[in-house]
Amino acid sequence: MNRIENQVIDLVQNAVQKYSSTKNPNFGEICSGLRLDVMEGVLPDGIDGMHSGNRIIINSQIQNEERKRFTQFHEVAHYLIEENGDLTSELRKYTCSQEDGYKRSLEVLCNIGAAEFLMPREKFRKLYKTKGFNVELILYAAHHFRSSPIATTIQLAQVAPNKCIAVVCENGLVPNAPALSQASFFTTGNQYYNKSKLHVIYSASSPAASDRWLGKYTVFPDDHLVNQAYSQSKMLKDESEIPFPSWKELCTCEALYNRNRVYALFHLTPPPSLDQMTLF
Ligand SMILES: [Zn+2]
Repeated sequence: MNRIENQVIDLVQNAVQKYSSTKNPNFGEICSGLRLDVMEGVLPDGIDGMHSGNRIIINSQIQNEERKRFTQFHEVAHYLIEENGDLTSELRKYTCSQEDGYKRSLEVLCNIGAAEFLMPREKFRKLYKTKGFNVELILYAAHHFRSSPIATTIQLAQVAPNKCIAVVCENGLVPNAPALSQASFFTTGNQYYNKSKLHVIYSASSPAASDRWLGKYTVFPDDHLVNQAYSQSKMLKDESEIPFPSWKELCTCEALYNRNRVYALFHLTPPPSLDQMTLF
């Protein structure tokens, strides 16, 4: 999968080099360079954007500018990937044994592509080598790159020096997962609700942890560090469990409350300290 991810990064970097007059790419310039037709329209709830052929549709209901910008580049990444037949057939081969694997992996790749558009990874690595690799870097880097904390979280996972999972959580209604059978609904019943709960809206795994991920709408137990950070409106760090769909894993978790969201890092292996980082 890492090889496929690197190809997506190359596609994004080439598009920026070819079509953007600035290093911080302008969506309009990239789209006219790629001859993409962009429009805004009403899309079903939960769908921020879509594309069909060379037409991109962005949900006109999105109020948050940063979310809209991320969605725009996510859809451009869809176009770049799906135009590249070798890449999509490699992805199909890689995911053929996993249920819904192609679609899920494609969405992950498009998020990676969108984050690369907004924050080139080389610049991001330089930043954490001077600031340290921790959850507070998300807000610092978002400010530094004038990007959304969501995109920053995804890119932070991509450049992580350790095995970790980064998530963004919001409080809101969580649908029942339609793919779950009734039996699995009861066995994993603590993860899906029909009422307002703090839940994962974006999740990204570092390359070293690409075999693990937390799905959208994952809900944490009420006493989990992530929920504590939310209710206390602060930054917390402690050993905590990651509620994967079919098992749990204990690791160091950092959870940071900011503007009605919680940003969290689950370190499956410890990140290097600032002293160690200057060595590589
Ligand atoms: Zn998508």
